[in-house]
Amino acid sequence: MAHALTPPTEVAPPRAEAASRPATRGVPVYEAVQRQFEKAANLIQLDPAVRKILSAPMNEIVVHFPVRMDDGRVELLTGYRVQHNDALGPFKGGLRFHPALELDEVKALAAWMTWKSAIARLPFGGAKGGVQIDPARYSHTELERITRRFCYALGNNIGPEYDIPAPDVNTNAQIMAWFLDTYQALQPPQDRQRHMHVVTGKPVDSGGSLSRDKATGQGIVYLIERWANERRSGLSRATFTVQGYGNVGSWAARLLARHGAKLVAAEDVTGAIANPQGLDTEALAVHVRANGGVVGFARAVDHETFFSTPADIFVPAALANQITADTAPMLNVRLVAEGANGPTDPEGDEVLRRKGIDVIPDVVCNAGGVIVSYFEWLQNKQSEYWALEEVDRKLHAKITAAYDRTRDTARQRRVDWRTAAYIVALSHLETVYKQRGIFP
Ligand code: GLU
Repeated sequence: MAHALTPPTEVAPPRAEAASRPATRGVPVYEAVQRQFEKAANLIQLDPAVRKILSAPMNEIVVHFPVRMDDGRVELLTGYRVQHNDALGPFKGGLRFHPALELDEVKALAAWMTWKSAIARLPFGGAKGGVQIDPARYSHTELERITRRFCYALGNNIGPEYDIPAPDVNTNAQIMAWFLDTYQALQPPQDRQRHMHVVTGKPVDSGGSLSRDKATGQGIVYLIERWANERRSGLSRATFTVQGYGNVGSWAARLLARHGAKLVAAEDVTGAIANPQGLDTEALAVHVRANGGVVGFARAVDHETFFSTPADIFVPAALANQITADTAPMLNVRLVAEGANGPTDPEGDEVLRRKGIDVIPDVVCNAGGVIVSYFEWLQNKQSEYWALEEVDRKLHAKITAAYDRTRDTARQRRVDWRTAAYIVALSHLETVYKQRGIFP
């Protein structure tokens, strides 16, 4: 039986974040990240020692932990935390709940977090984790016990100055509140209040930051605006399509609509819908929350029709490996703004390049989440609460700087934006390793 995780204050439905069609083909994500890494490393002739260090994660943690279900049965669940690199600061990255989650995917996602933080110049390294479950199969109370037991199993592998989780696919502020509470309960009483920043993406009442909920979608929209302004074509007459209508997709769609842009098609795990006259993005969010997906809100279309819908912008905001050699040829858009992590595989990338479709790559485009996580972490450390306008202003400054760095590098090096983003990240990490050396 499906139970909503969403606390009453939260706008976006957690279920549909993972929503996308299962990838039928596509390059396995860990291979994809290695290929992207090698390409950029070769171009800049990355120092051989740094290349070796960055080509594998520092720590791969796999835990199996028992959880009692509501009916008294015990299930043994598998959880992961991969800590890719901490040269720039504590490990940082989300926790996801997904039935198909496996170690190689978490390794890829952890590496993407390292690049993301480096490109945005955050003092964080990269990590990712999660539990291999389908959260729709568990009740609210079971999900609470799963979260708490997972936190307990991770033990001291997590810490506010060591490794800081956050929400990701199918997890949300409520999960972070349970995680924080469990982590705090395991500390000596006199130390408890020093650990508020062990996770980010918390509910605002429990130490979260204003604007964190919409941060990833907001960051995407700031960058789409910048891209449109640079092409002297505002957003008021733009059309767009979105894949995934969870936290990231629904916020991106609703914020784009506030600029006057028109959503003409949407897809998630339940299917695809389209309306050339435009879909009401707010009403769609309400529909998804009530029904668990986009289907039933407007005229149904098939996967191929969704992918070939003509629009200015496509925002993939679901899972990895959606834009592949199979689907990329169908796309009829000017820009792909990657809200998901790894939505385009290397073969899909090649097709986009040949078709002249611009790409704002994931490690730049969806960095708004971790940027505002950084602000939340800072606010907790200083026992402060920043105003929403202040958070948004600082998010805008940081994410547009990451975009500008990527665009300038792409021009200077005459490479695609994804390779440029990797060059920005790898050059920064190389400088740090050269300055600090390798111990002993
Ligand atoms: N899960 C988000 C991401 O993939 C946010 C991570 C964070 O805030 O640490 O970027």
